[in-house]
Amino acid sequence: MDYLNLKSKILDNVKKRGGWVNAHAHIDRSFTLSNDNLKYVYRPLQEKWLLNDKLKRESTVDRIYDRMAFTTEKMIKQGVRVLGSFIDIDEVIEDKAIKAAQRLRDHYKKSIKIIFINQVLQGVIDKKAYSWFKIGSEFVDIIGGLPGKDKGKEEKHLEIILAAGKEMKKMVHVHVDQLNTAAEKESELLAKKTIEAKMCDRVVAIHGISLAAHKKQYRKRIYRLMKKAGITVIACPTAWIDSRRSEISSTTHNAVTPIDEMIPEGITVAIGTDNIVDIYKPFTDGDMWTELRFILESCHYYEINKLVDMATVNGLKVLGLKDGYSN
Ligand SMILES: [Zn+2]
Repeated sequence: MDYLNLKSKILDNVKKRGGWVNAHAHIDRSFTLSNDNLKYVYRPLQEKWLLNDKLKRESTVDRIYDRMAFTTEKMIKQGVRVLGSFIDIDEVIEDKAIKAAQRLRDHYKKSIKIIFINQVLQGVIDKKAYSWFKIGSEFVDIIGGLPGKDKGKEEKHLEIILAAGKEMKKMVHVHVDQLNTAAEKESELLAKKTIEAKMCDRVVAIHGISLAAHKKQYRKRIYRLMKKAGITVIACPTAWIDSRRSEISSTTHNAVTPIDEMIPEGITVAIGTDNIVDIYKPFTDGDMWTELRFILESCHYYEINKLVDMATVNGLKVLGLKDGYSN
C-alpha cells in the first residue's frame, strides 16, 4: 500500500539519531504490582508516596536489582540508548537502591547509559529526611526533587535541592504540577527559585500537567519565565492522562504536558515513561512508542522532526549529556 506512514518515519529517524532516550523512570519500583498491593491503585498520589513503604522495607538489594535489570533489558530491547531513572533513597529503603543501582550500571555499561537521580519521598526538610537526601545527592548524577511532599513548604524544599545542585555542580530534576489543577503553580515557583539560586539552564521540570489547566495569559507568562530560567521539561504522557474527573471548571485541555505550546515557545521537551507496572501505573509497560504516540495525540502535535528530537537529543540535553556517553 502506498501511503504516508508517519509512524515508520518517526521510528526510522529515532534509530538514525542513535535510539530512544527515556529521560524519566522509577526503575527501582517498576514491576512491583502484585495481588497484595493491587488494592492501592485507586488511592490518591500523596497516599501512594507512602503505600510502597512495606515493599521498600522488605525489598533486598537483590530484589531491587532484579527489578531494575528486568526494566533495563526491556529498554535495551526496544532500542533505548540512554535511561534516566529516579531511585528511592530515604530512611525507609536506606541505601539498598544505591547498591543495586551501582551494580546495575556496572553490569550494563556496554549496552546502555544509565543516569540516576534521587527520589525524596520523605521530603528534604525533616531532619532524618535531609540526612538521607545528602547521602543520596552524593551518589546520584542529578539531584531530584518532589516539592509536593513538603506541602506548604515547597519554597524551602526547592531552596534546599537547588543549593545542593549548585554546591555539587549537578543538575536538578523536579516533579512539578502533577495534579492537573489551576490551584497548582509549581512550575512558576520552580522557575523563580531557579533564577534566584542562579541555577539557570541546570534545572528540569518533570510533568508540568497543571500548566494546561490555567488561562492562556498565565500559561504564556510562565512559558517565558521558564525560558528565562533555562528550564527544560520532561513529559511522561501516560503518567497523567488518567487524571481523575473533577467538578472544578477550567480551560478545556488534555491532562498532559502542553508541548504544542511549549515547543513553539522555544522550551526543550524530552519524554519519559515514569512508573511502570506498579501501584501508580498498573498498565504502563515502558514502551517508548506508546509514550510518544500519547503525547502527539493528546496535544494534536504532528511535527515529525520535533517529535524525533523529543525522543532522542532532547533527552540527552535534559540528562546533561552531550553525545549520550559523556557527562
Ligand atoms: Zn516520576
